[in-house]
Amino acid sequence: MNLNQEQDTNLDVAEIVSLLESSDESEVEALRARAEQVCLKTFGRDVYLRAIIEFSNCCRQDCLYCGLRRSNAGLKRYRMNTDEILETAVRAAGLGYKTIVLQSGEDPYYSDADIARLIEAIKSRADVAITLSLGERDAAAYRSWIEAGANRYLMRHETSNPELYARLHPGHTLEQRLDHLRTLKALGYQVGAGNMVGLPGQTTKDIAGDLLLMKELDVDMAGIGPFIPNPSTPLGDTEGGTLDLVLREIALLRILMPEVMIPATTALGTKGSNAREEAFRWGANVIMPNVTPMRYRPMYALYPGKICTDQDAAQCTSCVKARVLAAGRTVGMGYGHSPKFLRNKAQRVQAQEVIQ
Ligand code: SAH
Ligand code: SF4
Repeated sequence: MNLNQEQDTNLDVAEIVSLLESSDESEVEALRARAEQVCLKTFGRDVYLRAIIEFSNCCRQDCLYCGLRRSNAGLKRYRMNTDEILETAVRAAGLGYKTIVLQSGEDPYYSDADIARLIEAIKSRADVAITLSLGERDAAAYRSWIEAGANRYLMRHETSNPELYARLHPGHTLEQRLDHLRTLKALGYQVGAGNMVGLPGQTTKDIAGDLLLMKELDVDMAGIGPFIPNPSTPLGDTEGGTLDLVLREIALLRILMPEVMIPATTALGTKGSNAREEAFRWGANVIMPNVTPMRYRPMYALYPGKICTDQDAAQCTSCVKARVLAAGRTVGMGYGHSPKFLRNKAQRVQAQEVIQ
């Protein structure tokens, strides 16, 4: 298939499936080169760094694929208190980070007000954007957090296939997940969805559906990573996703949505020592070094073989910066907000001024 500058952002399911499945090396290389070109044209050589703090591995959900699921009785659980989370965030800002990602299992131990106070405290002590990835809460909580200063929310849709979604998330539906994403967007968050690649029973048509769903939702960010079977879960003896298919999905998303922020995910880092650098050549432009205090890292065991569990925040920072430079790219200095989001916001402000 010939990728054509003007029409690529409208690839249909059949075209996407054909590129995901293609065994024609020159066609696949053309896909990669096109995605890299679109990425460089949109963002230049900059790759944005996000410091992630994994502050609790307690979770009330039971997602079949995940090591933090509540039924995994073999996992030692931890919670950082909010003072320790704050100190960790302030230290990360001191290392030069302009975005702090707060991630956890879905853990109601932290009240809505606890999280709001934490966001305010971080914002008052550090000049950073804040991304939340705390799972599902109600609209009032999301509203209080954006009022407290949060900027972005990551909530992957995990899979666009409703039957597969329901199988993987007992008692939940894809439609509910999408409602959360729409609520977050309406409240003014920059929103990140995303999916795993290689889930049991998933087809390339499902992955095409993931891509078109993210386009329809008009997401600002997209986390795409391989599913890695976890022996402590019911899906422990399944196959998991390949590096090749993840890279192809990243490239297709970059072409379909030129301005979306796409991380070279930590899960992808398990697929080879240079897998994340490789992702930059396929359209990724974000990387998320781990700044969680070392003693907690082995317990945030979403999947086995997680990288960077033996390096502290400063080591992870210099390692990741060196990787960005080795890939021929530069480290982005600003907050790295989604350009589309900033433009839409400027339009909203202008419209507001006209009204007033
Ligand atoms: N509890 C929050 C955030 C933590 S989980 C939430 O679910 O949104 C973060 C991500 O880890 C999930 O969205 C999922 O896509 C990913 N994940 C969980 N188990 C995984 C596995 N076995 N392989 C690869 N990714 C996994
Ligand atoms: Fe909990 Fe998130 Fe893991 Fe699901 S994916 S079990 S919500 S931590």
